This record gives sequence, structure tokens and C-alpha cells, in this order.
Amino acid sequence: MLEIKNIHKSFGKNEILKGVDLKIDKGDVVVILGPSGSGKTTLLRCINFLERADQGSASFGEVTVDLKTASKKEVLAIRKKTAFVFQNYSLFNNKTALENVAEGLIIGRKVLKHDAYEISKKALDKVGLSEKYDSYPIQLSGGQQQRVGIARAVALNPDIILFDEPTSALDPELVGEVLQVMKEIAKEGTTMLVVTHEMGFAKDVANKVIFMDGGNIVEEGTPHEIFITPKEDRTRRFLRRVL
Ligand code: ATP
Repeated sequence: MLEIKNIHKSFGKNEILKGVDLKIDKGDVVVILGPSGSGKTTLLRCINFLERADQGSASFGEVTVDLKTASKKEVLAIRKKTAFVFQNYSLFNNKTALENVAEGLIIGRKVLKHDAYEISKKALDKVGLSEKYDSYPIQLSGGQQQRVGIARAVALNPDIILFDEPTSALDPELVGEVLQVMKEIAKEGTTMLVVTHEMGFAKDVANKVIFMDGGNIVEEGTPHEIFITPKEDRTRRFLRRVL
């Protein structure tokens, strides 16, 4: 469903991604783990063109684009197939929860306002925010704001949702509610690529875990292979530190 080949990305003289390949099948929940600075977020951002890669390609089904030279039209085509959940939620503070979710449908997908609101209400219901359609971000907890962020992604009905450390800005007591929502949408068969430091989520929900270090994929496998029988020394050392 999504195949990434040979992504390279540097910031100045720092080579952050050194030729990363990635294959994701429909319904996969892929978790990317790795130490801080290993390039996880940059990888996700390059896939969605939030950053321009220096080299590499992405194939979504039959559509293949060059991640460095893709035209505006190609970028829009890929963005239509993906949705992004940001670490800091990235909600519009002057819009209600419902308006935040509907915005992408109305502006990005040209859905009629009435229909966009109906779809958005269903998405907010799914993340447990039926009571909060008319609340502004400031009236919501961090966990609720991130659930709005997830509803916004779900409403777009993309081929894949990219999650960039969705719980790392949250107070610890609010992490569980967001992970629970992610678990539920994973169970429904949503294809997800998740950068997270939440090992429990990786173990319980992912069907594939990728360990990145220094701009490369060091090892990938099932949660059992990565957590119980890792092959690489670097993976073992990382897990010893975080588990
Ligand atoms: P973390 O777990 O801490 O979020 P990460 O593995 O997601 O780390 P990235 O956020 O991809 O790592 O960052 C990798 C490196 O690239 C870091 O050293 C970071 O400072 C650098 N970097 C990221 N974005 C930029 C940018 N826009 N300009 C310059 N350097 C950047």
C-alpha cells in the first residue's frame, strides 16, 4: 500500500535520514521506535511533504512520486491519501472542536459544509467527544485536544494516518485515553504509522515495529521479534534503557 524507497534528508551538514526503505501494507499498525534525534519525526514529515526529502520515492498503490521533485499536484494527491496527527495537536484556537475537524474536509477535500459537519460529528463521537462539539481548544484538556486531532485525521478517511509522537506533550494521566482511542481505530483496520516512545502501545497494538538509530533502520520485525528476541546489539541496548 505504501512503499518508501531510499529517503535521504539532511539539515545543513547533518545527514538525518541515510537511505530509509519502508513498506506498509493495508491494515498494518507500524510503530517506529528509536532514540531522540534518530530521524523518526523527519521520516514521517518527509512522507507527507511537511519536509522535502533530498532523495527518495514513495509509492501509494500505483502512484509513485519522487519525494524531492514532486509537483504541487503530486503533493496534493499524496496528502489526500494521508492524514497527520501532530505532537502539539495543531488545532485552530479560534475554532470549535467540530469546526477544527470539518475544516480539512471543507477546504482540503471540497466536501459540502453540511456533509462535512455530519462526518465530523461521527469522528468526534468515535473518539469519545460527543459532548464537546462546540468547545474551543482552550476549554479542552490536552488529551481531549489530541482526540480532536485524531478525529480530524479519521474524518478525512485517508489510506494511512501518520502519528508523530501523539502523546509526548501530554501529562502522564492523559496519555491512556489517547492511546485507547488509537487502539480502537487500529482495531477497525486503519493503517497507521506511529512514532512513539510508548512501548506498551508498540507491544500490544503494532503488528510491526521498526527500530531506528542514526538515520537508518537498524532492525524491524514483529513486536515479539523486536522486544523479546532482538538481533542487533543497538536494539538491545536501546531497549535496556527504555524498558
Ligand atoms: P525525538 O524522539 O527527540 O523527537 P526524532 O528521532 O524524531 O527525535 P527528528 O525530530 O527527526 O528526530 O530529528 C532528527 C535530527 O534532525 C535532530 O538532531 C534535529 O535537531 C534535526 N532537525 C529536525 N528538524 C530540523 C530542522 N527543521 N532544521 C534543522 N534541524 C532539524
